[in-house]
Amino acid sequence: MSLVEIKVPDIGDFDSVPVIELFVKVGDSIKVDDAICTLESDKATMDVPSSAAGVVKEVLVAVGDKVGEGAVLLKIEAAASVGAASAANTAAAAPAAAKAAPAAAPAAASHGGSVDAEYDMVVLGAGPGGYSAAFRAADLGLKTAIIERYATLGGVCLNVGCIPSKALLHVAAVIEEAEHVGAAGIGFAKPSVDVDALRKHKDGVIGKLTGGLAGMAKARKVDVIRGYGNFLDPHHIEVEETTGSGWDTTGAKKVVKFKNCIIAAGSAAVHLPFIPKDPRIVDSTGALELRQVPGKMLVIGGGIIGLEMATVYSTLGTRLDVVEMMDGLMQGPDRDAVKVWEKQNAHRFDKIMLKTKTVGVEAKDDGIYVTFEGDGAPAEPVKYDMVLQSAGRSPNGNKISADKAGVVVGERGFIPVDAQMRTNVPHIFAIGDIVGQPMLAHKAVHEAHVAAEVAAGHKAAFDATVIPGVAYTHPEVAWVGYTEAQAKAEGKKVETAKFPWAASGRAIANGADYGFTKLIFDAETHRVIGGTIVGPSAGDMIGEVCLAIEMGADTVDIGKTIHPHPTLGETVGMAAEVAHGSCTDLPPMRKK
Ligand code: FAD
Repeated sequence: MSLVEIKVPDIGDFDSVPVIELFVKVGDSIKVDDAICTLESDKATMDVPSSAAGVVKEVLVAVGDKVGEGAVLLKIEAAASVGAASAANTAAAAPAAAKAAPAAAPAAASHGGSVDAEYDMVVLGAGPGGYSAAFRAADLGLKTAIIERYATLGGVCLNVGCIPSKALLHVAAVIEEAEHVGAAGIGFAKPSVDVDALRKHKDGVIGKLTGGLAGMAKARKVDVIRGYGNFLDPHHIEVEETTGSGWDTTGAKKVVKFKNCIIAAGSAAVHLPFIPKDPRIVDSTGALELRQVPGKMLVIGGGIIGLEMATVYSTLGTRLDVVEMMDGLMQGPDRDAVKVWEKQNAHRFDKIMLKTKTVGVEAKDDGIYVTFEGDGAPAEPVKYDMVLQSAGRSPNGNKISADKAGVVVGERGFIPVDAQMRTNVPHIFAIGDIVGQPMLAHKAVHEAHVAAEVAAGHKAAFDATVIPGVAYTHPEVAWVGYTEAQAKAEGKKVETAKFPWAASGRAIANGADYGFTKLIFDAETHRVIGGTIVGPSAGDMIGEVCLAIEMGADTVDIGKTIHPHPTLGETVGMAAEVAHGSCTDLPPMRKK
């Protein structure tokens, strides 16, 4: 046994980030990848995972302390053989808040009044997490209801998130493809954009999906209770009926009693406090309403949501500036992939202001005037026709009176849960955006199934090794598991194999020879622990790398799997061949 220091890994360009939550204390036994604490920068929160297993002997930080890369958080008495034990989990891959509740539980209230309806299972919120949980619970025989304040099921993802953004991104891709085939001798007239018809098309896509969900709820006999829910105690929720867009209430109230409850109340866009209310200043929901195509737009925040919306508006004719506090756009994937994206997208932007903050916004008759500070800041305020705030999302944990049910809510509104998605109150579960990063629909759905199955008495737990991320920009950027940067930061012995799409027949035929597929694998076992793909349909292809990681496949397994030719998907197989030196679609490789 020896004392091992657990340090803050590479967290980007921040050297003084506050600790907002601490999950361990002296005497705790921790495993590799257990979250030690949550750090919160101006842009994001991140959990710091432990790089070793053992017993905590000393905690060197407290909530409120500011730390940077290399700061020692803990000293632990390490178990002898933990060094090689880490799976392909990543800080971004494991649900950040999937930890048992560390804080003291609030004293629960007790409802002595009347009850209007009673269920085995009540799900609060009907996003991808909520409806999946409710449907699974009903399929397992539980009498189930969903409480949802919006008129339709589907939550953020279907109504104002994943689906409408992809409907618009598809149209943008078609416009761009039509331009590209000009080089192949096919000419189209400049597209005319009918914004009203495009909005209708997008709404039609949403309607198809949300209508389908309503039908599936009915078929499963899941009751949908329209309204805003607040806990009254650990077994009752009061629902205040909502109308219209979901914010107005009719005054009618109902009390619903439950044996089990799943909180799936999601998250909301962060609004910077100093930004005034003005119809020309929107968040992602406002941007998806597509009220106008502005001449010049500022995107505050260079994350995925902002860049996807920027892609749509720019293809429709808007000139873009983007301001980002970090030193690069699209945090998450390796920089080599982002570089490819940047090169393909340079034409969209007038200014990319990195390491720069928005410090003032003034709405005037002739435009929105924005003042910046930092490395890329212009000296004078800049005038915009529209400003998109996409500075992140915050969980809705503090908006549902969880304390009355005795449920612990963390400082920032995330609800801590264990691997079975239980809160500190054993019959109340929580899933989706409200339990932690990454805030993604596919994570919510998996957690939903676990919670419903556990509530129905099944043995289930959330034990996914990795959760993929995709930017559905043009080109797409998709990554899963370890990035090269993360492996390096953790001192992990890895090798990488990259297949450039310049050697893919299909990519060349499709005009996408700029892309690449990269696998990251353990240097000793050759098991795949990560992958990054940049190019059209990267998001569709990353699933193969996810499966490889979950199945413990090595590069030979992937390379010896026959992929169809000619496809972009075969680049995954070819990257695996690069890994073991057998790729015949590239010049001979140097002998090691
Ligand atoms: P939500 O979808 O947020 O649903 C929560 C629901 O609960 C809402 O319908 C809300 O009205 C309801 N609710 C909240 N409180 C109450 C209450 N007290 N009473 C009644 N109802 C309540 N993720 C991806 O994986 N892929 C993507 O491509 C993608 N694109 C996105 C694009 C945009 C523009 C945005 C904003 C998000 C995107 N996301 C994407 C993220 C994704 O939408 C979320 O991760 C996902 O919706 C989370 O699901 P959820 O079930 O946790 O919560």
